Amino acid sequence: MTETKRILLRYRDVNADFTDIEEYGAHDGWVGLKKALSMTPAQVIDEVKASGLRGRGGAGFPTGVKWSFIPVNEPVKYLVLNADESETGTFKDRLIMEKNPYQFLEGCLIAAYAIGAKTAYIYLRGEYLEVANLLDACIEEMRKRNLVGKDILGSGYDIEIYTHLGAGAYICGEETALLNSLEGKLGQPRVRPPFPANKGGGLYSEPTVVNNVETIANVPWILQHGGAAYKAIGTEQSAGTKLYCVSGHVKRPGVYELPFSATFGDLLNEICGGPLDEAHPFKALLPSGGSGPIVHLNDEVMNTPMSYEHTAKLGTIIGSASLIVMDDRTDITWVASKVTKFFKHESCGKCTPCREGTYWLDKVLDRIMAGEGTEKDVVLIENVAKNMAGITLCALGEFAANPIIHTIKHFPEDFKKHVSGKKAVSKPLPMAGD
Ligand code: SF4
Repeated sequence: MTETKRILLRYRDVNADFTDIEEYGAHDGWVGLKKALSMTPAQVIDEVKASGLRGRGGAGFPTGVKWSFIPVNEPVKYLVLNADESETGTFKDRLIMEKNPYQFLEGCLIAAYAIGAKTAYIYLRGEYLEVANLLDACIEEMRKRNLVGKDILGSGYDIEIYTHLGAGAYICGEETALLNSLEGKLGQPRVRPPFPANKGGGLYSEPTVVNNVETIANVPWILQHGGAAYKAIGTEQSAGTKLYCVSGHVKRPGVYELPFSATFGDLLNEICGGPLDEAHPFKALLPSGGSGPIVHLNDEVMNTPMSYEHTAKLGTIIGSASLIVMDDRTDITWVASKVTKFFKHESCGKCTPCREGTYWLDKVLDRIMAGEGTEKDVVLIENVAKNMAGITLCALGEFAANPIIHTIKHFPEDFKKHVSGKKAVSKPLPMAGD
């Protein structure tokens, strides 16, 4: 298995510098935009609906359907691009913006045109300053070529794109917290309804679409080749290709673009070269960073396509596809403890189950990791986690419960080692390149 049908990382196939606007233009750049501008906005939305494109931020909501929620007759609408890439183990959007920025920006123009927005904001995580500078320079190059500003390409359509750096909070990847942050308010999720697509729920209370970077970078290809061609790639419910971020105990970690029909085995064994140390086979996988349920990395998982529907059958999610691979030296209780610390730190504190629950989990896990916990403590954290799930204002509460519920369910023996009376010692494990 090799990477095939590259759409987002296609610069790798032609060995071109896609950060150069001329080179990008020489390799099918702006073809999708020109096609879109020759169509009505409704036709563009229908084409994206036909493609089966789903949001790549994690939730997998159909993109064309999301666009169609925007009321046509409202005079002011916004497009917001979520570049607050903060999920543990996720580093794909940065790659797109650094290596193929014009394809992403072309997608922004098409999406804004489709929903009737004349202003688009790219909300970047605070650490992506260099990316923001690069995008700003690209936008100025586009302005010189009448691709941004008034009457772009003589179409009569006006559009401005701005970058905005966040201050570094995981929760600002949640779309309503992001909108609050963009408005200069505290980055906390809003109570819904109203939803962002509705009047009163979006940016500055105007109808707003929030899309992930990877999602939008697919759009120029869809317009150029047609929705049906895109739908033909992947699986029935997961159309197109996906960027998979691989980290942990494999020989060749990195970002790889594959159709959703590729299996975990295709990626981890054939492309990533298998276990980092052959003497230590794979043990566990977080397919969606710290927020998704952990699974045993066994033959069943290896033979499963990395699609939305197939990973759901495994009891987990593909989410943003940040695969964290662990071999048999990994102490899963330590993993649960580290992920819990992350969510405790990132909880915005707006609702009680998440604010109190994450602190409680962290405190008891510290006791367990120190060798001072009991079997009752394991039952306690499982109960706390189960009482958080499903009753919090946003998904972070659910994400914070997952590492506990699923590590105890799938790796009870790792917890037993810590509460057996003997002090279990966890030490950092080697990674590729060490
Ligand atoms: Fe904030 Fe957590 Fe509640 Fe989300 S679930 S609103 S992050 S306290």
